[in-house]
Amino acid sequence: MKAPVLDLECCILCEICIELAPHAFQVNGAGFIETLVLDDYSDENIHEAIKNCPKNYITWE
Ligand code: SF4
Repeated sequence: MKAPVLDLECCILCEICIELAPHAFQVNGAGFIETLVLDDYSDENIHEAIKNCPKNYITWE
């Protein structure tokens, strides 16, 4: 199963990914975006979030 991975060093914390897929992304205690652990990352909202990251910092791994 592929999962979305963020480039934390480059992320500008715009939170668009969280707006589009709050079940998959959140701000962690350190103030960085993190991917939540899900059984399935195939839903359309997650694909939209990845597509709409303004810097293309979310990739599949
Ligand atoms: S959409 Fe991209 S740049 Fe914006 S918070 Fe999410 S990972 Fe960071």
